[in-house]
Amino acid sequence: MTMLKEGRPTTPQAVEEEHMAPQTATGNRALMLEEKLIFEIGSTDTTGVDFADAPKVTSRLGSLARTDSIGLPGLSEQETVRHYTRLSRQNYAIDLGLFPLGSCTMKHNPRLNEKVARMPGFADIHPLQPQSTVQGALAVIHELARWLVTLTGMHSVAMSPKAGAHGELCGLLAIRAALEARGDARSVILVPESAHGTNPATAAFCGYKVEDIPATPDGRVDLEALKARLGPDVAAVMITNPNTCGLFERDMKTISDAVHAAGAFVYCDGANFNAIVGRVRPGDLGVDAMHINLHKTFSTPHGGGGPGSGPVVLSEALTPFAPLPFVEKQDDKFVLVEEETAEDHHAQTFGRMVAFHGQMGMFTRALTYILSHGADGLRQVASDAVLNANYILRSLDDVLDAPFGGAGPCMHEALFSDKGLAEGFTTLDIAKGLIDEGFHPMTMYFPLVVHGAMLVEPTETESKAALDQFIMALRSLAERAKAGDEALKGAPYHAPRRRLDETLAARKPVLTWSEPDLAVATE
Ligand SMILES: *Cc1c(COP(=O)(O)O)cnc(C)c1O
Repeated sequence: MTMLKEGRPTTPQAVEEEHMAPQTATGNRALMLEEKLIFEIGSTDTTGVDFADAPKVTSRLGSLARTDSIGLPGLSEQETVRHYTRLSRQNYAIDLGLFPLGSCTMKHNPRLNEKVARMPGFADIHPLQPQSTVQGALAVIHELARWLVTLTGMHSVAMSPKAGAHGELCGLLAIRAALEARGDARSVILVPESAHGTNPATAAFCGYKVEDIPATPDGRVDLEALKARLGPDVAAVMITNPNTCGLFERDMKTISDAVHAAGAFVYCDGANFNAIVGRVRPGDLGVDAMHINLHKTFSTPHGGGGPGSGPVVLSEALTPFAPLPFVEKQDDKFVLVEEETAEDHHAQTFGRMVAFHGQMGMFTRALTYILSHGADGLRQVASDAVLNANYILRSLDDVLDAPFGGAGPCMHEALFSDKGLAEGFTTLDIAKGLIDEGFHPMTMYFPLVVHGAMLVEPTETESKAALDQFIMALRSLAERAKAGDEALKGAPYHAPRRRLDETLAARKPVLTWSEPDLAVATE
């Protein structure tokens, strides 16, 4: 076996040999339990419930009626619970450790949020209930809306969009309605190179042509290039601020003025609002529409497909086009307004984003989080998030390349690149090594403007001790990748699954169980 001086095995094979434990008959390794696919455990002949045989009926669907079984496996209640509990134990979660995903703001979700969201008056109501019976829930939506408008310095807010990307769609539909109302349909949306993929996707979905705006060498929007491109065909510019390189767009007000002068609108992607909440009001920077990812900035659990919520704050110019419904206080009653009103609010609404009113559970969590912090606490959130990110940036910029590290402090996330790793070592090797060290990997290969990007967002809720442990792990991996430690290429060794062929997994996903097609598996 090849060994380094300190005794660390130097190849993937050597690591495996060293860790070779006797196989168990079950495949389980103590608390690490192997779990088969649900199709392999259950069978179509078994069921968890006993029903009397169904009476024979002649289907009115005739030959369209299904006659064969749909092939779902039947499991007892206990088997079902065990299956999902075992799988859940193979998952990483914010309650297990630091979740350094950049751009995602994965922060602690205070338990108080959950307690409030589960109160029957919020959790057990129906969207079609008479409004007189849900006055408390409507008051929550109204109060949260007031906070969001105040924190952003905007004119109004559409509460119903169900995630950030849905909020982008809402914002662009309002912009399109505003342009059409003045008989000025335009065809192009400008998006910086560093934008999140949802921005160009949303613009394309709305039928616009998407054009890139280049970045300057210091990672910000190239103001001159943007100004040069503005013209009568540009409907809007979508800008993320702070941007996905973790930097504040200092020229935002100048950009907005130029965009408005050209008759276009400014959409701001507010996913990174955590860095500036309570400190900067996007309305003061000339923004016309911005989504707020309640599930990022205002806690609430997400990841793994958990619920999202993306209210969109709007400028005075876009407010008449806002979607329905909205909550209004009339005398001492809260009213859900479902139709356009004569006033400037929603007078020319573009329609609806959802069937009902949005994500009630997310509204209660976000408002609970906001009220328990208070205005001063929210300012502190932004400062601490920025401080934590800079602590990581400066603790690692001697071993990892920080492409914009020379430009001064970062905002809420620290950006590194794979420059300087040994020949053949990549960001992926470091990410897989982090799994062995017990951390969820950082965001990798995003933003696209940085080669082999590693985007780390610690958030304000991590302690210095937690940050130090993460820094120690990442430093060790960076040193190994620079020294060309071949063993790193085999990581992860300690996770329930080893390194996957990600291309094959994405191109040929196995979503249901069938006899394995060996031709595909070995392709
Ligand atoms: C998360 C994110 C989005 C999309 O938000 P969802 O809530 O996931 O739809 C858009 N832009 C940026 C920069 C993001 O980080």
